Amino acid sequence: MKTLLTAVSLLFFLSSLVFGQANTNPPPKKQMPPIIDIHVHSMKIGGFQMGDLCPWFLKDMPGTDPKTGMTFNVSGDCVDPIKAAKDDEELTAAFLETIERLNITAVVFGDADVLYKWKNAAPGRIIPGIGVSNAEEITVAAMRDSLSSGYYKVMSECAPQYNGMSPSDMSLDAYFAIAEELDLPVGIHMGTGGNGMTNITGSNYRAAMGNPLLLEDLLHRHPKLRVWVQHAGYPMIDELIALMGCNAYVFLDISGFIWSYPQEEIHATIKRLIQAGFGKRIMYGTDFIAWPRMIEASISLIQNASYLTEEQKRDILYNNAARFLRLEELKKNM
Ligand SMILES: [Zn+2]
Repeated sequence: MKTLLTAVSLLFFLSSLVFGQANTNPPPKKQMPPIIDIHVHSMKIGGFQMGDLCPWFLKDMPGTDPKTGMTFNVSGDCVDPIKAAKDDEELTAAFLETIERLNITAVVFGDADVLYKWKNAAPGRIIPGIGVSNAEEITVAAMRDSLSSGYYKVMSECAPQYNGMSPSDMSLDAYFAIAEELDLPVGIHMGTGGNGMTNITGSNYRAAMGNPLLLEDLLHRHPKLRVWVQHAGYPMIDELIALMGCNAYVFLDISGFIWSYPQEEIHATIKRLIQAGFGKRIMYGTDFIAWPRMIEASISLIQNASYLTEEQKRDILYNNAARFLRLEELKKNM
């Protein structure tokens, strides 16, 4: 009797499984909690092939000799390097697939053609930006036209540091005045430009021009300007803390150094900022260029940070940027 009952109930159980499956639609795919990547470059690869990337490759910076010279090299020594996209099609497809799968909204700036393409393909996920790093790049009138069009929602990336210029340099003041007038956030590159930057490009890049305190005059002239310090002004963390302490509208992103510097160094920087009371102003960003899987690597760094609470992780990955960008308001016109 007991055996029969068991056999019947087993049969019932099996049939319910079979028929249950046949009659029910698969459960809807669970969406990931939203993420904002506030620092993405739309790059045209063209014929240029980037090397594969070993995340956190700057754990050794041994220096070299002028005789040997210095080259740009992101491929360190790692078991599983991140492949660079081999052409523009692959880059676009991989980027769009990744932001959809990981529920990412991205602030994107750089090559205008690539940006238009991405925006058309994923209008609800792309927030376009346009930057200026010196007055020769774009006239003040053209910048006003671009920003007034409503297409661009932020002014970024502005990188006067690469021209050896302070962000408070008067040659850029008229541009920032437009951003203040139109109430658009401004992203300013501050911090390192890569290992051996000046040797490689022989450019006017100056480490000293990445000092966050150089923003003070600009902020004084434009008290309503919403600036975010890109790359956390790394490594001038004390200066950044001093600046943010007296300027409540200033936020920061952790792009670039999040996947290039040694992990202990990145965690120490984030920890220090949290400890100093700025957990509500740290924004996640990648500085995405050409390595699709680098997005996952960067997110995992935050998600695996044992010293961060779940709330702090959500703040960094989404809440802080949503507040800074006024995302709800902004999404109405996207
Ligand atoms: Zn930058």
